[in-house]
Amino acid sequence: MYALDLGGRRRIATRPKAPVSVYGERIVGGYRIWDPFRSKLGALLLKSHRSDMGLSPASRVLYLGAATGTTVSHVSDMVSLVYAVEFSPRSMRDLLRLCESRENIVPLLEDASRPESYGTFLEPVDLVYQDVAQRNQAEIASRNVIRYLKPGGILILMVKTRSIDVTRPPREVLHAELGRLEGADLLDVVDLRPYHQDHWAVVAKKNR
Ligand code: SAM
Repeated sequence: MYALDLGGRRRIATRPKAPVSVYGERIVGGYRIWDPFRSKLGALLLKSHRSDMGLSPASRVLYLGAATGTTVSHVSDMVSLVYAVEFSPRSMRDLLRLCESRENIVPLLEDASRPESYGTFLEPVDLVYQDVAQRNQAEIASRNVIRYLKPGGILILMVKTRSIDVTRPPREVLHAELGRLEGADLLDVVDLRPYHQDHWAVVAKKNR
């Protein structure tokens, strides 16, 4: 990942082998400018100054909730391999198009809440990244962390409080959800405003 100054604004970018725009993002001098409004991971990396996010060139990443590949494409620019799990066949069709031009994405049409169903395709990973709008977000993350994350590996969990409970205050929902997280110790919680409302990025480290 690179930090650039574009017209006096700090922007982050990734550098792909072939500088092709994936979701309409700008390309400047071979860099793909990461849109933090389109990608929660982009927002997190712009707001956080942590360096231990599990996104180094040798990393293997398990990405849960790949959708059409907006964020997956940037992750693919940075790491060695991305296992991209998505359960919507419609989104998967677009994701497969992205995979045709990139060799390091393994698309898996699977349900992230049933990690045992994709075990035969995976090796242990350095980062579990999750962005699924489900009621049991922490439970899904915990199951995948326990099964697939290496000891000392990183979990980045995007918590969308409105998908869990719209009737309670978002911060209360977030704290209850954090209490359900198993297998990883909390490092950081980042509010993703102004890029994403009622979304928090939770960064944790596998404890054993
Ligand atoms: N992470 C994507 C990005 O930044 O480009 C956006 C993800 S979108 C907010 C959430 C995605 O998670 C949807 O495509 C949805 O189909 C998928 N999803 C929700 N629950 C899932 C599950 N249990 N297993 C796999 N995918 C799931």
